[in-house]
Amino acid sequence: MAATGDSMASTSTNVDGTDNKIEKITFSQLGVIDVLCEACQQLKWKTPSKIQQEAIPVALAGNDVIGLAETGSGKTGAFALPILQALLASPQRLFALILTPTRELAFQISEQFEALGTTIGVKCAVVVGGIDMMTQSLMLAKKPHVIIATPGRLVDHLENTKGFSLRSLKYLVMDEADRILNMDFEQEVWIAINSTQILYEDLSTTVDKILKVIPRERKTYLYSATMTKKVAKLQRASLQNPVKVEVSTKYQTVEKLQQHYIFIPVKFKDVYLVYILNELAGNSFMIFCSTCVNTMRVALMLRNLGLTAVPLHGQMSQAKRLGALNKFKSKNRSILIATDVASRGLDIPHVDVVINFDIPSHSKDYIHRVGRTARAGRAGKAITFVTQYDVELYQRIEHLIGKQLPLYNTEEQEVMLLMERVTEAQRYAKMEMSELSNRKKRQKDEDEDTEESSGVRKKFKKKRKY
Ligand code: AMP
Repeated sequence: MAATGDSMASTSTNVDGTDNKIEKITFSQLGVIDVLCEACQQLKWKTPSKIQQEAIPVALAGNDVIGLAETGSGKTGAFALPILQALLASPQRLFALILTPTRELAFQISEQFEALGTTIGVKCAVVVGGIDMMTQSLMLAKKPHVIIATPGRLVDHLENTKGFSLRSLKYLVMDEADRILNMDFEQEVWIAINSTQILYEDLSTTVDKILKVIPRERKTYLYSATMTKKVAKLQRASLQNPVKVEVSTKYQTVEKLQQHYIFIPVKFKDVYLVYILNELAGNSFMIFCSTCVNTMRVALMLRNLGLTAVPLHGQMSQAKRLGALNKFKSKNRSILIATDVASRGLDIPHVDVVINFDIPSHSKDYIHRVGRTARAGRAGKAITFVTQYDVELYQRIEHLIGKQLPLYNTEEQEVMLLMERVTEAQRYAKMEMSELSNRKKRQKDEDEDTEESSGVRKKFKKKRKY
């Protein structure tokens, strides 16, 4: 653990309340005011987590923060509490903006802000894609205190929603900052942190648009579980501010997480997946695939075998994405199959097993994916499928986490007994996939016919600026 800048209290408490060292610290000792301490108590947050102990005093002292914390470490509280405290000190609408890469994370962060801020009457608005612009415009017109947004939709509102501006903003948070800052790679821009100009080479143009319309004089908090070289560069560039707070010096995965790999020929991936799901039946699983199509295919295949699986990927409507997530969260479904849209930050404590069905192509995503299990002090298991094509990627993961993982043991003969049923389920899934794609194509053709005849598309094209 390290805190550059001020020397910090070195006690450490995990989010589940278990101590790494003897001394216990309270939220009040960190400088959190009573009303917010009570809110923490109501959420059953007995003691501050490590990142909260490190970041809250630094933030309350008026510094900008770069926070590097493991997934599930309580980072939302680490930035939400100082913001709420500042808001109470000088109440103002459109006070803070939280940028986050996925829509699901935006809702999750909003829930924590609302939970911590209920007694003080904080109004939050979630501004993400896939949801009606008009409804969001009405929400923004009410001028919430805190906006939690994905960058693209926020820019859409900044450019197209009359009367909406962030000119008075006081706080900017970039959650999963490395991901946000790497969303695209088009421009070199300067980011202003506490009036210090820092060159950030890969800052996305979308985020750049936001940075241009918010005040330079603001507080900025960047949070991420994994630090890219670019964020490291950003830290080096600023000597006094921002203060870097860190709860792990290396890419770490929690101790209670058992990690394994399984080496199999690519053609047997499905049958091994079904075998493992049967072997570990009774658990709840998150299965990661690399594409939307494969996510859908695997979900259909598993459903054809009678397993309660739901897909979650970026080509689904937002209502369906939230529906799938809620079914899994409420334990109505025991298997969630997802792309990396679900790999970061989602807090679903009951996930027992993470299966990397397709190996992540960025090794950092491995950390995020396996971080969906073994949360809040619970144990968890992660199994990564490695095929003949994945060896190099797998070695990079081992290098990143700094250890070699044990092989997950399976009985090949028993696995192969499932082959016939799995082949049949695959066949049905293939048919369903082509039916789905035909249906989509027909729908698209129909929509285009209607749009063209009513001229809707032309009008729409004119209205959008980019
Ligand atoms: P986060 O890393 O912000 O996604 O938080 C992970 C989970 O830890 C969330 O369910 C929080 O409600 C919970 N949490 C955050 N801070 C604490 C704390 N000090 N004590 C106990 N639980 C916490």
